[in-house]
Amino acid sequence: MLKFRTLNIVFALLIVVFAMLQFVGFEHAWILLLFVFVVYVIVVTLGVITVKWQFFMPIICNLPNDRKEIFLSFDDGPGEKTKAILDLLKDYKATGNFFCVGKRLTENPVFAKLIVDEGHFIGNHSYSHTSNFPVQSRKKITEEIKNTNAVIKKITGKSNRYFRPPYGVSNPNIAGAVRKLNMVCIGWSIRSFDTNDKEGTKALFKITSNLKSGDIVLLHDTSPQIIFILERLLIFLLENGFRTQRIDKFLDEKN
Ligand SMILES: [Zn+2]
Repeated sequence: MLKFRTLNIVFALLIVVFAMLQFVGFEHAWILLLFVFVVYVIVVTLGVITVKWQFFMPIICNLPNDRKEIFLSFDDGPGEKTKAILDLLKDYKATGNFFCVGKRLTENPVFAKLIVDEGHFIGNHSYSHTSNFPVQSRKKITEEIKNTNAVIKKITGKSNRYFRPPYGVSNPNIAGAVRKLNMVCIGWSIRSFDTNDKEGTKALFKITSNLKSGDIVLLHDTSPQIIFILERLLIFLLENGFRTQRIDKFLDEKN
């Protein structure tokens, strides 16, 4: 939370400076203070929604390597398209990273087991993935992460320490829960916006036009054209010599 803390210190110092200016007779110090406050709110808001800033906590957004390895990640499952995704990955001998919602893992135990049996990684993407997840208390967020870890342990037989925050949103409560549970946060370097793409072509272009070794690509089990996007992406990877890798395996080997 270094960046957030630094901003708060700077802001506090500026308040003191402006208070002193006001005190010595500089009439418009409050206008400067108002301007600084607006800037503060904008910076904090951007810090909350911009995963790459790592504003409140460390977040791994890419895994540079010289082996042309990239990391496909699928959020929000398992669901009705998971089986088709797994079949495609198998056809192209590719590996995926599934950041699953705990509640959906318990509702779809067959797909959950299949993800593991076919050699892919399951990470934690909260238990409920409700729209109010980021504004919950630190205690509730901690419970959500813990509950999903318990479900993952039941399915995989292994403890999980990788967490992707829903919506890529971070804040002091999420950072506190992550720190308390000693989790490692995983973000992304390429956000495909696949859930908003009815044809899938824009998302595919977004990924393939800038893809480089070490990229973590964000996709969703729930996106309308995930099969269209994934099949073409897998062909692109083959044609361009990219390999796919598990995030946990890469990090475990590195440490
Ligand atoms: Zn999500």
